[in-house]
Amino acid sequence: MDGRIKDVVNDGPYKVSVNNERELNVDSGKTLRVALHDEKISIPSVCGGRGVCGTCKCRVTKGGGPLLPAETSLLTKDQIADGMRLSCQVEVCNDLDIEIPDELLSVRTYESICTEIEELTYDTRRFRFELKTPAQIDFTAGQFVQLLCPRYKSSGEEVYRAYSIASDPAQNNLIDLIIRRVPNGICTTWCFDILKEGGPVMLNGPYGDFRMSETDAPMVFVAGGSGMAPFVSILSEMRNAASKRSVKYFFGGNTTKDLCMANEMKAFEEQLQNFEFIPVVANPEEGSEWAGRVGLVTEAVQQTYPDLSKHEGYLCGSPGMIDAAAAVFTGLGMPEDKIYYDKFS
Ligand SMILES: Cc1cc2nc3c(=O)[nH]c(=O)nc-3n(C[C@H](O)[C@H](O)[C@H](O)COP(=O)(O)OP(=O)(O)OC[C@H]3O[C@@H](n4cnc5c(N)ncnc54)[C@H](O)[C@@H]3O)c2cc1C
Repeated sequence: MDGRIKDVVNDGPYKVSVNNERELNVDSGKTLRVALHDEKISIPSVCGGRGVCGTCKCRVTKGGGPLLPAETSLLTKDQIADGMRLSCQVEVCNDLDIEIPDELLSVRTYESICTEIEELTYDTRRFRFELKTPAQIDFTAGQFVQLLCPRYKSSGEEVYRAYSIASDPAQNNLIDLIIRRVPNGICTTWCFDILKEGGPVMLNGPYGDFRMSETDAPMVFVAGGSGMAPFVSILSEMRNAASKRSVKYFFGGNTTKDLCMANEMKAFEEQLQNFEFIPVVANPEEGSEWAGRVGLVTEAVQQTYPDLSKHEGYLCGSPGMIDAAAAVFTGLGMPEDKIYYDKFS
């Protein structure tokens, strides 16, 4: 039977089998994403179920019905052939068998308290969350969590937004996030204007496969703005492991006011044998005493390396910056499959 056509005789609940391990009873008409979420299985959904981000993928091996337009535009032909679907688009109106990565079964929801808010720049803050229930999280440096932004006067509904973890994985009782204010953004307005130290915040995670590879290849990091976040975590992990791996980290800002965490980066340079932090400013303010690199971060990469064929590239930030930096990497000979990135889209 066509999975989208509601069975008029049987109005549910329907059985959703997850990884042949768990069976959920789901009331008819819920989307698969909501059904999983209600059972505390949190599939990441950066756009909150609007069918525009493509992060809530899972494999549907039985049921599911025809693909919807959002899916045909966000899934590749290979993914479609492999049975991948967007769980926010699949409506549960018959029994389903689905597969999700095992690690998503260990995603948890965390009640936390925001214990510290620190200004990093005029538009970027670091928020520290102490985990209460459960009190500890295991994550790999580079992963992200979702923060639940509650209803408030500018937003009539709860929304989830993804934020890369910016803390040391060894400090598993807290999560730091580095958040850049987006004008009129729902969640960032709440974080900057409403959330106060001492306030409760719900987080869930960890998610994502952006992480340091297990090779010894020299690495080039490129970020701007809040793209700093996962690299703080990765550098902490390297420090904990006394890593000797070579890293150059190019951090771009439009003006010197966009730069941040100089002291933390200096400390990493002292603690790590082969780490160099290279801030790059596109338009230093007139009269500023900026003595560092000037120009685009991508130009600084080009000026530094004649050849990147043996390097790995790690990029984090806006899609535009990532695409530009990835093009520079491949232009300098870096294989595409050695470029790892997290787009903050
Ligand atoms: C994997 C991942 C990791 C991320 N990590 C970080 C991080 O570490 N730090 C960080 O700061 N960000 C990060 N992001 C981005 C973050 O998830 C949010 O997208 C960002 O904070 C904006 O959220 P918001 O709710 O404030 O803005 P939104 O409300 O989502 O708005 C975003 C923009 O869209 C516009 N907009 C909203 N609604 C409409 C509409 N109806 N019509 C037209 N325009 C509209 C807004 O004006 C705004 O310019 C990450 C994203 C991903 C995918």
